Amino acid sequence: MADYSRILQNLEFINISTDTFTIFEWKPPKSYKSYILDLNVVKQNPISNIFFHLFKGNMKIVHIRLKNLIYTAGSNNDVQFQLLEALIEQVSVVFNEIYDIESYIKYDNFSTAMFSSFKDEIDNIINNFNALNSVMDLKVPCMVCNTILPVIVKRSFIDNAESYPVPLVYNHKGHAILCFIDKNYDIRGVELVNVTG
Ligand SMILES: [Zn+2]
Repeated sequence: MADYSRILQNLEFINISTDTFTIFEWKPPKSYKSYILDLNVVKQNPISNIFFHLFKGNMKIVHIRLKNLIYTAGSNNDVQFQLLEALIEQVSVVFNEIYDIESYIKYDNFSTAMFSSFKDEIDNIINNFNALNSVMDLKVPCMVCNTILPVIVKRSFIDNAESYPVPLVYNHKGHAILCFIDKNYDIRGVELVNVTG
């Protein structure tokens, strides 16, 4: 198993926002960068329950809108999107366990200072990420690179799939492969796919 806690040392920020303002932000120690512009892009997106991926400069940004909150994580390019998604899923679960945030928002009865100690929870999630067992790293052959690639997948993505095998595109080094993963996390096929957009 890969050391996900070490990979997550590449995180740049985690942000939890309402439609109007940030209620919580985590950054690694000694990071003074600001991500206000990135978050404005995220807030313009009204779609719920779907992960969105962005590239911004050298950063990868993943965001999702769940009920009244928008969860965003940014990292450098060393972190795969599925790992960032799994991280956000765990952050949202723990945040909602600790805070009754939907009622706070409904009654407009909270101050962002209430959430400052959640930084410790983020550190816990990162440090104990392997124990969560929320992702798998699969070995996928790429016929272009002629190598075996480590591809990270969320367990929730595979376990909650409606049918198998599940298709997953891995976009790397200017080309993309489509891999098919069965419910036992075995690779059932790999194809080179064309990409546009
Ligand atoms: Zn390749």
